[in-house]
Amino acid sequence: MHRRLAALSAAAAVVLLVLTTAAAQADADRPIDEILEPIQLTDRVYYFYGSIEARTPVNLGMNNNVGFVVTDAGVVLIDSGPGYQVAAMIAEAVASVTDQPITHVINLGSQDHRWLGNGWFLEHGAEIIALQRTAETQERFAATHLDRLTRTLGEEAMAGTEPVTAPDPVGADRHTFEIGGVQFELIFVANAHFPGDSMLHLPNEDVVFTGDVVYTERMLGIHPQSDPVGKLESFRRLEELDPGIVVPGHGAATDLATARRDTGDYLEFVIHEVRAGLDDWETLDDTVARIAEPPQFQHLRHYDDWHRVNVNRTYLFLEAAL
Ligand SMILES: [Zn+2]
Repeated sequence: MHRRLAALSAAAAVVLLVLTTAAAQADADRPIDEILEPIQLTDRVYYFYGSIEARTPVNLGMNNNVGFVVTDAGVVLIDSGPGYQVAAMIAEAVASVTDQPITHVINLGSQDHRWLGNGWFLEHGAEIIALQRTAETQERFAATHLDRLTRTLGEEAMAGTEPVTAPDPVGADRHTFEIGGVQFELIFVANAHFPGDSMLHLPNEDVVFTGDVVYTERMLGIHPQSDPVGKLESFRRLEELDPGIVVPGHGAATDLATARRDTGDYLEFVIHEVRAGLDDWETLDDTVARIAEPPQFQHLRHYDDWHRVNVNRTYLFLEAAL
C-alpha cells in the first residue's frame, strides 16, 4: 500500500513536470528523437509523449502517444507507431530503459500511427493483440491512411511499412489477460474516434491508456467516421475506472480532472448544444454560429482548426440519427 502511494505521488510529480514543459512547448513541433525519450509514469509504465502538432517530416508521424509496460516476462508496447522505421526507433528507445524484449504489442485504434509499425514488431517475434473490431477498421482504412501518410512524410521515411493487422484478433469487447505479473484489461465501449477504438486499463498500476477517446492540451477532432456520442460514453466509462493517471491518445499524461476538462466537458457541451439546436429546427450554419466561440475551450491548441468542424460533424451525426 505504502509503495503504491509513493509510486503514485512520484508519478503525479512527473505528470506535473511534463504538463509544465508541454505548455512551454505548445507552439513547437518536436523532432522524433525528442518524442522518443521515455517518460516514466509508475514503476513499470512509461510513455512516449507524441507531438501535439500535425503529422510532419520532423515528428515522422508520431503526433500521438505510445506507451509501454515493463513486465517480469517482457515488454508490452501500447500502439506501434506510424511505420516500420519509427517502430525500430521505438524498440531502441525501449531498450534504453530495459533489457527485456518487446514480446507483445497492443493496438488501441485504427489510425496510421497506432498500428502501422506492427510489421516490424511481428518480424521481431512480438505477438500483436487487438480486438476484432479494431482490426476490421484498420483493414478498412489501411490503404488510405498509408497513402496519406506516405504523401506527408515521403517514400523514404515510410520504406518497409506494410499494413499488418493482428493475425489472431480477439472476438470480444473485453479482453483481460496477465503478462509477467501485470494485469491488462483491453476494453471496447463504443465507437469513438474511429469504429472499434479501445482503451487499456492497468488496474495494478492505476493507469488507463485511452487511445483516441481522450485528447488533452489540444482540441479533439471529430471525423466523418467518428461517433461523438459513443466517444462521450467511452469517456464516462473511463470515469468509472477512475484511474490516478490518464494517458490520452494525444496530449500529455495527466489526471482525470484534466481529461474531463479537455475532452469530457467539451463533448458534453457540443452534443448538448447541437441537440438543442436540432430540437429548435436550427440550421447547421446557425448552430455553428451560435456556439462558435465557447471561451472555456479556447485554451486548446488547434481550436481554430477543429471546433467549427466538430460542431458541424456532430450536427450531421445527430441529425442522421433523428
Ligand atoms: Zn489519434
